[in-house]
Amino acid sequence: MSNIQCRVEECHYNQNELCQASTIEVNAMVKDHMVSTTRDTSCETFVPKVKMQ
Ligand code: SF4
Repeated sequence: MSNIQCRVEECHYNQNELCQASTIEVNAMVKDHMVSTTRDTSCETFVPKVKMQ
């Protein structure tokens, strides 16, 4: 089990604010990849809970 804290409760992999995915991919969200804040990143492993049910 991973120890990744995540507050995206809408994600299929989220359980009690912990990510249950075995691996995750996080990408830069800005075009020139000049990432400077958390808002410039995004979890690509996110899957909406409604899609998996
Ligand atoms: S896959 Fe990404 S968005 Fe989903 S719980 Fe894990 S870290 Fe959060």
